[in-house]
Amino acid sequence: MIIPKSREEIELMRESALVVSKTLGMLAPEIKPGVTTLQLDKMAEEFIRDHGAEPGFLGLYDFPNSLCMSPNAQVVHGIPNKTPLKEGDIISIDCGAIKNGFYGDHAYTFEVGEVAPEVKKLLEVTKESLYVGIREFKAGNRVGDVGYAIQKYTEDHGYGVVRELVGHGLGKTMHEDPEMPNYGRRGKGKKFVEGMVVAIEPMINLGTKRIKQLPDGWTILTADNKPSAHFEHDVALVDGKPELLSTFKYIYESLNIKTKEEDEFRAKVYD
Ligand code: MG
Ligand code: MG
Repeated sequence: MIIPKSREEIELMRESALVVSKTLGMLAPEIKPGVTTLQLDKMAEEFIRDHGAEPGFLGLYDFPNSLCMSPNAQVVHGIPNKTPLKEGDIISIDCGAIKNGFYGDHAYTFEVGEVAPEVKKLLEVTKESLYVGIREFKAGNRVGDVGYAIQKYTEDHGYGVVRELVGHGLGKTMHEDPEMPNYGRRGKGKKFVEGMVVAIEPMINLGTKRIKQLPDGWTILTADNKPSAHFEHDVALVDGKPELLSTFKYIYESLNIKTKEEDEFRAKVYD
């Protein structure tokens, strides 16, 4: 059952999402060769608590940490550890926070130093596909329209779209209806309703779409050990249009990246 949110609730969810956005922005300049994912996890946990929130992932389904840290061939749900990142790695960081009883949940794949051109391209296209998908999250459309758009855009680049893991509705629990696959058929699936909030999160592989899981019961990685990218935004359907609750602007400020990619989805100011 889809649970639409009131405008007041959407504003609260924006606060939850902003804690995550700022956490990722804080981490961005720390992501360098030599740092460990466990160090970054501890920094994030402290930052989230200092901002009046609780880590959203810590203890959720018994996950042991505050961040999912998935380097290189890991797709999602990687567990932070003491292995230092190295030049040329990519690291997908998925972060959750709970504030005012609502979850924020979004993700960004960072480059560690200089990354191979084909990997850089994978990150670029995966992030573009996120916005291609968000554009279809509008009144009159259905779940399949978003999935179709992401799948078409990324498969046209020859990439593999992970099937087993999907985006989701978001609210007082981390995973609400509907599931939001990154593949699908136009005009199929549940119809979007005003006030709903979803996490749209393409997980796109350089090679095969197939995945495997490590014996730790969490870590998902590509079956062919080629890199995978993951970008995620929290989006509300307001006045029939997609409105971003999360933002990558803190990351871009930290890394001195200029982009207008979020402008078309920017929040309106309510009166
Ligand atoms: Mg996430
Ligand atoms: Mg999510």
